[in-house]
Amino acid sequence: MNRLSDIGTIKDILSRHGFTFSKALGQNFLINPSVCPRMAELSGAGKGVGVIEIGPGIGVLTNELCILADKVVAIELDKRLLPVLDETLAEYDNLKIINDDVLKIDLHKLIYDEFKNMEVVICANLPYYITSPVIMRLLEEKLPISAITVMVQKEAAQRICAEVGSRQSGAVTVSVNYYAQPEMLFNVSAGSFMPAPKVNSAVIRLNVLKEPPIKVNDEKKFFSVVKAAFAQRRKVIANSLSSGLSLDKKTVTDLLEKSGVYANARAEKLTLVNFADIANNL
Ligand code: SAM
Repeated sequence: MNRLSDIGTIKDILSRHGFTFSKALGQNFLINPSVCPRMAELSGAGKGVGVIEIGPGIGVLTNELCILADKVVAIELDKRLLPVLDETLAEYDNLKIINDDVLKIDLHKLIYDEFKNMEVVICANLPYYITSPVIMRLLEEKLPISAITVMVQKEAAQRICAEVGSRQSGAVTVSVNYYAQPEMLFNVSAGSFMPAPKVNSAVIRLNVLKEPPIKVNDEKKFFSVVKAAFAQRRKVIANSLSSGLSLDKKTVTDLLEKSGVYANARAEKLTLVNFADIANNL
């Protein structure tokens, strides 16, 4: 069993290093021993594969990734955790820890420098305060990666993995589906963490697509249509697009007609092809 998921061990390590949890950095560390091995296994970490981990904490998931993958690079923002990680993961020579902010670091350069000729996957128990920005950054930058396996809040997981065109879908569903095929893996209860968060979590996997599933002429336009469409969920699509894109009503109804979309439809009913047609006709 991974000793880093044992509460006694964690408390001992943290008190010896004088470490206190930072709520602002989303520090909820995993203490359920069954979660990390499962997550690492399902992430695709294995022979010939390099893994980027975001926020290793004290290294409980990192430990499992180092066992499976050829190389692991873990990005941790909190420099107080560096001496902790030096101690907990001392036995691995296929690991590099980088003290940086995942939202600022140059990930293309990191992959080029650290993982030449390797398949690369991302695996992380994400700090919840930056779930969407991190996921969208990883996808929008078109990194040479094959999959992203992340633990996120259960509600966020359900939204991301919803069918496009279903009630549960939102702007993030459509945006993620443009780059990847999302998959719900398993649920994780709040009690699996220390300190326990107020919400439950889930692990999802985004299988990154080589090409988008639809033809979009201008991605910026496509994402502004998606954002405007979902900005006011209760409005019909004609009204949301008119206010969100600052277009007069007649222009929008013509646009929707040309795109084969019913003006009174709600954004959640539209398909990826509908969004692409609207953006391409705009
Ligand atoms: N992987 C550990 C686990 O599962 O127990 C810790 C997960 S904890 C939810 C999130 C981790 O991300 C913390 O270690 C936190 O310090 C780190 N973190 C927070 N913001 C970050 C950022 N912007 N860039 C990199 N790491 C960050």
